[in-house]
Amino acid sequence: MFMVTINQDKCEGCGSCVDACPAKILGMTEGKAEVIGDAADCLGCETCLELCPTEAFSIMEL
Ligand code: SF4
Ligand code: SF4
Repeated sequence: MFMVTINQDKCEGCGSCVDACPAKILGMTEGKAEVIGDAADCLGCETCLELCPTEAFSIMEL
C-alpha cells in the first residue's frame, strides 16, 4: 500500500497530476491538487511525482 501526500504550499495548480493519475484519486480544490478519492487506491506508479513541475508530491510505501 502506498501513501501519497501533496505539499499544498508547493502546488501551483497546473492540474497535470489530476488528469494523469491512473487511479483517478486526485482532484482540484480551490486551485490546489488534493487526494479526493480513496487514498488506499494509489498504485504507487509515481506518475504524479514525475510530472509535477514543483515537486509537490511524496509517495511512501507502507
Ligand atoms: S502537478 Fe503539481 S503543481 Fe500541478 S496541480 Fe499537481 S501537485 Fe499541483
Ligand atoms: S502514484 Fe500514481 S496512482 Fe498514486 S496518486 Fe500518483 S499518479 Fe495516482
